[in-house]
Amino acid sequence: MSAPPADPVLVDRVVANLDRLRDRLARAGADPDLRVVAVTKRQPLEVVRAAAAAGLTDVGENYAQELVAKATGWGEEGGPPLRWHMVGGLQSNKVRMLAPHVHLLQSVDRPSLIRPLALAEPRPAVLVQVDLAGLPGRGGCAPADTAALVAALVEAGVEVRGLMGVAGPGVEDAEGRRRVEAEFGMLARLADELGLAERSMGMSDDLEIAVACGSTMVRVGTALFGARP
Ligand SMILES: *Cc1c(COP(=O)(O)O)cnc(C)c1O
Repeated sequence: MSAPPADPVLVDRVVANLDRLRDRLARAGADPDLRVVAVTKRQPLEVVRAAAAAGLTDVGENYAQELVAKATGWGEEGGPPLRWHMVGGLQSNKVRMLAPHVHLLQSVDRPSLIRPLALAEPRPAVLVQVDLAGLPGRGGCAPADTAALVAALVEAGVEVRGLMGVAGPGVEDAEGRRRVEAEFGMLARLADELGLAERSMGMSDDLEIAVACGSTMVRVGTALFGARP
């Protein structure tokens, strides 16, 4: 079965937005090989089609069921290979269903995930999510607990590629930007100390600051696809 064609209007919009995004990244001094993870959460498969047609290769989802449904649908319609990233809060009982589909689990943030990860087939590579802003409901392990969690994951045979973090809001003013810079700076320092290469930081509103702090991977939804439905 051949894949349904992507909606040309949608593709044009994503291509234009991706051009603008690449401009922003270049002006911020990003490495050409900085990875862009297109966050398609709550967007229909149609948007994934447009993202792939625009040349994006990495997609991010927040909900396990949604990731599995889209990755399965994408495979069934014969789309080109995409790397699926899980960036949302992770329940331990979802690790097993995600494992066959996910390229990178970015939101590992507590010891109770270690056993399901070690048992998963295939065993996914992970990032440890660090709580940068101390805001409730965002997930992430405390910065002080990060080294121990990374060590325990490695001990269990899980491949830890780096750290992920979500900064607090407030980039509209200078004080907020300084706060976000301090948060991303902390993530980069932690990754350095632990000898971890990947730093997944930066979203639509704060990616310039993240790039300045050494991001290797930005996770962008709104700036590529507009507001989520
Ligand atoms: C939604 C989400 C993003 C993308 O956010 P935008 O502001 O739309 O770019 C990135 N990372 C995580 C963890 C998210 O939940």
